[in-house]
Amino acid sequence: MPPSPSLLSRSLSRWHNTPLYLRILAALALGLVVGIVFGKSAGSLGLPSQLILRLLSALAPPLILIAVIQALMKAEIKGRTAGKLAFLLILNTTVAITIGLAVANVVRPGAWHKLPPPPATSEAATVQALAKPKPVLEQFLDNVPKSVLGPLGDQANVIGVIFIAVAFGLALRRNKDRPLRTITDLVDLAFDTLLTVLHWIIDLVPIGVFGIVASIVGTKGFAPFYALGGFIFAVLLALLLQASYYLLRIRFGSWVRPMDLLRGARDAMTMAFSTSSSTATMPLTFQCLRRVGLREESASMGALVGSNFNNDGTALYEAMSALFVAQMLGMNLDLGQQFTVVITSIIASVGAAGIPEAGLVTMTLVFTAVKLPIDYIPLLLTVDWFLDRSRTVINMMGDMNVSCLLDGKTRGVEESTISAEPPRPGEIRGAAE
Ligand code: ASP
Repeated sequence: MPPSPSLLSRSLSRWHNTPLYLRILAALALGLVVGIVFGKSAGSLGLPSQLILRLLSALAPPLILIAVIQALMKAEIKGRTAGKLAFLLILNTTVAITIGLAVANVVRPGAWHKLPPPPATSEAATVQALAKPKPVLEQFLDNVPKSVLGPLGDQANVIGVIFIAVAFGLALRRNKDRPLRTITDLVDLAFDTLLTVLHWIIDLVPIGVFGIVASIVGTKGFAPFYALGGFIFAVLLALLLQASYYLLRIRFGSWVRPMDLLRGARDAMTMAFSTSSSTATMPLTFQCLRRVGLREESASMGALVGSNFNNDGTALYEAMSALFVAQMLGMNLDLGQQFTVVITSIIASVGAAGIPEAGLVTMTLVFTAVKLPIDYIPLLLTVDWFLDRSRTVINMMGDMNVSCLLDGKTRGVEESTISAEPPRPGEIRGAAE
């Protein structure tokens, strides 16, 4: 007998109210069991994760576009400080990516387990594939848009247009009476609508994790997870090195004592780890910096303005992921390609909003730039819930680092730093959960 609607809706809302990381862990465990029990026949369960990836990559370009436009429109910076801020942001991100690439080249976690190349997409293979009738699910996947604007220019893809119309129509319903008075209102609406759609896709991630884990365990066993363990180790090591770089820079480039900063910013670091959102943490970061004794201007430059552009942990992670997958596929990225990874990771990290899983969305751009198959990004879904939290702490520490360096070598004398007010919640856009 089908469950009564109230039971179904109660279970759905319970599922929805459970934190995402717990849902992903549950999906991971279930995927393991199903993969072990069903073996090779669990192979086709990987399809939902491809669907999620397709949706995430369709959303990436407009999200980056709007996030960067919004950050530039709202940033209030003055001449010299703007130059100093831009220099610090570019320097920190470049150091982060260099550390990431160096660790990935030394530890080589991807070499711990080799993967077969993805299915060929040559003309012959395409003709062969067309001759065979496709399973219904695959036909469905073919109609999911690869980009948000793509189907609008493609007369053949009416289903893709309907997909986009339904998603954005539903997302806009909740804002249909929102007044638009200025261009900023319009950009904010576009950003909020994209975030609404993004959260729906992120809600599907546990299903993708279940499918990809079941399909990998069923067809390839546990060996790929061994390499993923190596990847987690390498990323954590690189993030730790980046944190040490920040603290050293603070020690020698500002009046702030690193230990005092760590003590004063404990709350913000815990919040960044537990929410996976540097944007949601912004007000607390600002408040902690003021408590440590930074001038209001430097605290707000780094923690509020810089934070929109500054995602060093994300940049480091994206570069390492590209190298990891290349290593698993036995592809050697030469120096030129690694340079392309650096440039695209910088752009992708600037465009990544400070919300959970944003790095995963923009990662497709880095992969595409060096012609790496994005088919293997779903593998990273299984560990991203944890690595996202860790890189968010580094993103937030990057903001603190910039604030301290802007504050300079002499402590400012302001009347009361302890009672510093954080910005009003309404001023912080893009906080995810
Ligand atoms: N969650 C990260 C942040 O909020 C962004 C990312 O996914 O890398 O900073």
